[in-house]
Amino acid sequence: MFDTLSDRLTSVLQNLRGKGRLTDADIDATAREIRIALLEADVALPVVRTFISRVKDRAKGAEVSAALNPAQQVVKIVNEELVAILGGETRRLNLAKNPPTVIMLAGLQGAGKTTLAGKLAKWLKGQNHTPLLVACDLQRPNAVNQLQVVGSRAEVDVFAPEPGNGVGDPVDVARRAIDEARRTQHDIVIVDTAGRLGVDEELMRQAADIKVAVGADEVLFVVDAMIGQDAVSTAEAFRDGVGFTGVVLTKLDGDARGGAALSVREVTGAPIMFASNGEGLGDFDAFHPDRMASRILG
Ligand code: GDP
Repeated sequence: MFDTLSDRLTSVLQNLRGKGRLTDADIDATAREIRIALLEADVALPVVRTFISRVKDRAKGAEVSAALNPAQQVVKIVNEELVAILGGETRRLNLAKNPPTVIMLAGLQGAGKTTLAGKLAKWLKGQNHTPLLVACDLQRPNAVNQLQVVGSRAEVDVFAPEPGNGVGDPVDVARRAIDEARRTQHDIVIVDTAGRLGVDEELMRQAADIKVAVGADEVLFVVDAMIGQDAVSTAEAFRDGVGFTGVVLTKLDGDARGGAALSVREVTGAPIMFASNGEGLGDFDAFHPDRMASRILG
């Protein structure tokens, strides 16, 4: 992820090195190169436009700095603007004053929700929380079982509908899970919901119903970074159909160009809160815009 973008940006910025002074023409040429690099990395066009215009304006108006030469100054501006489109500050989980905190996961099938449920539970357990995983994906025959497997690997409890009760009502399961969490003193409830291969209305309605029924403190939209531009349109559909408070990017370990990571925050306004970069339960961490920007700029 980001390798090509990173190489391109580094070389564009390196071309400025050694210039004692940057003319507007130098800045325009650099901005053009950066624009191409971002578009090739699959960053959404409106995000590219905003980014380039901010970089250009700031670079042209840059104060002469005693500490930085002109090239370094442009690098600094590009870095700061990357951090800004990635969301600025690291956004922490919003914990409920009266536990349990309810975190709901939503996204397309295959985005990595169930895996993420395990990763997040393990991560929270490491911070002395006592998470309860809740199986509300009752569409896919194997989903409940998959969550149980993930839960046992993460060594956390799983609340699932009793087998043999038909498909069951996910809203009812979610409600009962919260009662159970209160009774058994789990301070965080992570609700795994059903996904479809494509966005569909019933899926949206179900997720929205669960969200309201459990009074979710956080709704995390889980998106596979490998799906490129589709990540942005899917995010917009979930924003309008369900609404979410944060984004989790999965499969950052994949060989993708990174456009999703760079677009989703700016397009939806919701912060990227976590990132997954592998199939193992430990391949997961809070998302830090500044670290990601540094990684991109090499
Ligand atoms: P769900 O349908 O949204 O619940 O998705 P799953 O959790 O079942 O994940 C779908 C597939 O993606 C599984 O094979 C996971 O092992 C894999 N997966 C999930 N997260 C990651 C990740 O960060 N990196 C990689 N490489 N694979 C992942």
